[in-house]
Amino acid sequence: MNCLSYNIEIDGTVQGVGFRPFIYTLAIRYNLNGTVSNGSNGVEIFINSTPKILKLFISSIKNELPPLASINSISIKEVSSIEFNNFKIIRSQNRDSISVNIPPDISICKECEEELFNPNNRRYNYPFINCTNCGVRYSIIYDLPYDRENTAMREFSMCQDCKKEYNNPLDRRYHAQPIGCFKCGVQLKDKIKDIVKFIDDGKILAIKGVGGYHFVCDATNHIAINRLREKKGRATKPFAIMVKDINMAHEMAYINLKEEELLTSKERPIVLLNSKNIDSAISPNSLRIGIFIAYTPLHILILKELNSPIVATSANITDEPIATKTKDIEKLSNIYDYLIDHDRDIVNGCDDSVVMVIKNQTIFIRRARGYTPVSIKLPFKLKGKILAVGANQKNTIAIAFKDKAIISPHIGDLDAIKSIEYFKDSINNLKRIYQFEPNEVVCDIHPNYESTKYAKSLNIRVKEVQHHYAHIIGVMAEKNLSKEVLGVSFDGTGLGDDGKLWGGEFLISNYNEYKRVAHFKYFKLLGGARAIKEPKRVALSLLFDSLGEDKTLELDNPTTRAFSESEIKTQYLMWKKGLNAPFSSSVGRIFDAIASIVGICQVISFEGESGMRMEEFYNKNITNWYPFQIQENIINIEPLIKEIVQESNIEIAISKFFNTLVEIIYVIYKRYNLPLVLSGGVFQNRILLELVLNKIPTAIIPNKIPINDGGIAFGQIISATREL
Ligand code: ZN
Ligand code: ZN
Ligand code: FE
Repeated sequence: MNCLSYNIEIDGTVQGVGFRPFIYTLAIRYNLNGTVSNGSNGVEIFINSTPKILKLFISSIKNELPPLASINSISIKEVSSIEFNNFKIIRSQNRDSISVNIPPDISICKECEEELFNPNNRRYNYPFINCTNCGVRYSIIYDLPYDRENTAMREFSMCQDCKKEYNNPLDRRYHAQPIGCFKCGVQLKDKIKDIVKFIDDGKILAIKGVGGYHFVCDATNHIAINRLREKKGRATKPFAIMVKDINMAHEMAYINLKEEELLTSKERPIVLLNSKNIDSAISPNSLRIGIFIAYTPLHILILKELNSPIVATSANITDEPIATKTKDIEKLSNIYDYLIDHDRDIVNGCDDSVVMVIKNQTIFIRRARGYTPVSIKLPFKLKGKILAVGANQKNTIAIAFKDKAIISPHIGDLDAIKSIEYFKDSINNLKRIYQFEPNEVVCDIHPNYESTKYAKSLNIRVKEVQHHYAHIIGVMAEKNLSKEVLGVSFDGTGLGDDGKLWGGEFLISNYNEYKRVAHFKYFKLLGGARAIKEPKRVALSLLFDSLGEDKTLELDNPTTRAFSESEIKTQYLMWKKGLNAPFSSSVGRIFDAIASIVGICQVISFEGESGMRMEEFYNKNITNWYPFQIQENIINIEPLIKEIVQESNIEIAISKFFNTLVEIIYVIYKRYNLPLVLSGGVFQNRILLELVLNKIPTAIIPNKIPINDGGIAFGQIISATREL
């Protein structure tokens, strides 16, 4: 035979996903001798082959990939001839973990689900069944390489049967690190039957999931749901619902094809949907609810038996991270009636991911389980090893090297001490797993962000990046846009270069710099931080701006009624003197103000509540908008405020408000002949986002990084020092 020796290097998600046995199977099929191993850049293969067979072999690799594998590049080199008598999987050699992708936690696969319900299978009803194509990964990893002794599974020793599967390259469980069974694996302390009975009886449970505990109750039991609300201190924020399958999801919400695809994907995120038939306690003020399909065998066993949906919400108390350890969940025992625990540790916490679909595009609200820590390719090569510490709210962190960035799962708001600890743990986890020591750290320019303080404590080179610019360049990099864009960042608040609180910004941006070409006229946040929780304060401030003191005092509207007359007078003095009243251009706050003026809410119980409630009042048949002025680069909405206080019809007021924002974006977009990029938390508002995309279909939004502050860390990476 006319055989040559080849060296093939495959880069991508190729470790811990059954890639080597896959190569082994193909080598047997094509009768090729050689070796496969995990190498420095992914997987390395040596084979003896004819050029013709090599071609077939390579095309089979590309076309028959294992479900969780993906390939970035394949390089093939002819090498001087080597002798082989067979084909062998050989052990991982040197490791340069930096270029290796850790696979994320993936939902149960079809084969495992079939076995789970097959009475003849030895894992019939085993709540932790998994294989190489499914199950936990990231959440159980202490260290790389991804071998059993480097995971939480090192506490469990395999039985003979499991060992056989684990060591057989032709078995679906070859090197499936979390492999186990009733005899040798992870054990549930309770019986499924009992768990189902607790839920049926209206009890609140804490159930250990993949990346943390959930609080769970019957999603059709009004009293149970309200009891959970009371105990968790969560007044009105919608709860996510877990269902047993797509059919049950269809009973509860309107679902289009793209949404169905996401719901049933191997990542199984929470998808935000318009609800049909749900208990009013699940989402008291909005039609929108989050639904996800059971993604572990444990959840599937419970839901099949229960045959009704459950509320499944991250087990934490407001502002604190998700509980991952038994000792943490036990501290919350006043919230739940029963704890459903098992004996495998969660090493790396990971919340459920949350997505929505707008005009057939996926938008990440939270990027976590199933998606992290998959790396995102950068449009250029970085010079060193970069750590980006993100914003203060919805924090994520990112590490990056060469042309790859890895974003951590959602960490949360860095307000509580526990959250700050979790933030630091997350950094240490990534550093440990990737053996990563940063030589440059990127943070926000806000000196009081906990993330910024941490960055400055590291004693390495620090780069500071303006918040809204980070929002925009993150999207640019995700979309590989190297030319100038017009970035629109509508946001809660972020510190601007002039020391004011920005959030209604038009930034002409490239990877090096930005120019602020327009922004909303500054208004005063009466009461500083309190204004964020109390929309009525922002509304009052805008009324003073637009109408003055006397007319505001004469006004009888929902905002003024939310204050006593003397309060208004005091607030006026504060406003006039600028006492505890920082300047802001935030569109998030403008949303709050409008919600107050039209009487939807005066005080909010969670971030984004006003915008979410306003969505319900939008009427697409109302197509006109309020007047506004753009002088120089200042957008002035005083004309809007003057008219909206006269409007008694909430639908008209809110619809015209939405339309005005779209028109403002459109007018400024038309001034510059540049691609339009949208980012910032305000664009989580589905009505606003959809309207802008209707008006400007070429507008670019992120589909991989979160559109809110969860995307800031990635944006910060983009301004790190790069190679020329
Ligand atoms: Zn499986
Ligand atoms: Zn076993
Ligand atoms: Fe932001």
